[in-house]
Amino acid sequence: MNVIVADVLGMCFGVRDALEIIENIDQPERVTIHGELVHNEQVLDKLDRRGFQQTDEKGRHSLPLTDQVLITAHGISRRERQRLQAGGKTLIDSTCPLVARAHEAAQKLQAEGRHVIVIGKPGHVEVQGIVEDLHSFDLAPTPEHVKRYPHNRLGVMCQTTTPEPLAAAIRNEIKRLNPQADIRFIDTICLPTKEHQHALERMLDQVEGVVVVGGRNSNNTRQLVERCRERGLPAFHVQEAGDLDPNWFHGLENVGLTAGTSTLEETIRDVHQTLMHMSSAVAA
Ligand code: SF4
Repeated sequence: MNVIVADVLGMCFGVRDALEIIENIDQPERVTIHGELVHNEQVLDKLDRRGFQQTDEKGRHSLPLTDQVLITAHGISRRERQRLQAGGKTLIDSTCPLVARAHEAAQKLQAEGRHVIVIGKPGHVEVQGIVEDLHSFDLAPTPEHVKRYPHNRLGVMCQTTTPEPLAAAIRNEIKRLNPQADIRFIDTICLPTKEHQHALERMLDQVEGVVVVGGRNSNNTRQLVERCRERGLPAFHVQEAGDLDPNWFHGLENVGLTAGTSTLEETIRDVHQTLMHMSSAVAA
């Protein structure tokens, strides 16, 4: 069995910068991380061991007990920022600049008097942060959610980790069902997401199955898994090397390896090495 590694995979600069900020915090016990820093259980366990307080993503409405609050790479709404500051909290901001750009795009569309349609996953923290500052919006996670909107001016933007083909299908459906509307689209899909997806596409023609490494709750990891399955290939989603099962690979000659944007390099290395061992066992 050959293992083919995607030419772009793993951690993006947004997550790397957030980890660097957190690495340099001297007194972790005085800081609450407002939600999951990244959707990666190994990273969250490490932060726990260092002594950080961590608020559950669904429990962010209560005021953290520590004086310092770290905003994650997924960002928060302006409204939430004001609530924390009014509660006397000092904010340490690790919002990814590309998430901040998505917030600005939504605000710009709103300032132009448009009803904003956010292409994104309902309930995801990034999406939550964007829509909390909007007066008039709808969410469109799939083309099936698109409807005829009772507005003449529409603005469309995306969660940063949306696959490009999905965004294109939703845009087309918005146009089809709203021929009367003046529609403006701002592409807010982040470059690392696009590069990961393009690298996966290049690899898919060469393999019969793909191992995807990343957190269970990671949206971009799940999108990589879904793309493999859409192409009719088995996708094996693992969080670490110990999740790999040699039985998955019987009869496969070429297996691909990719990883989501919050996956640590050491985790990818472990998974790769374990796959190489399995591959020589299969060959023997
Ligand atoms: S996936 Fe994109 S938007 Fe999210 S942290 Fe990474 S670079 Fe930023």
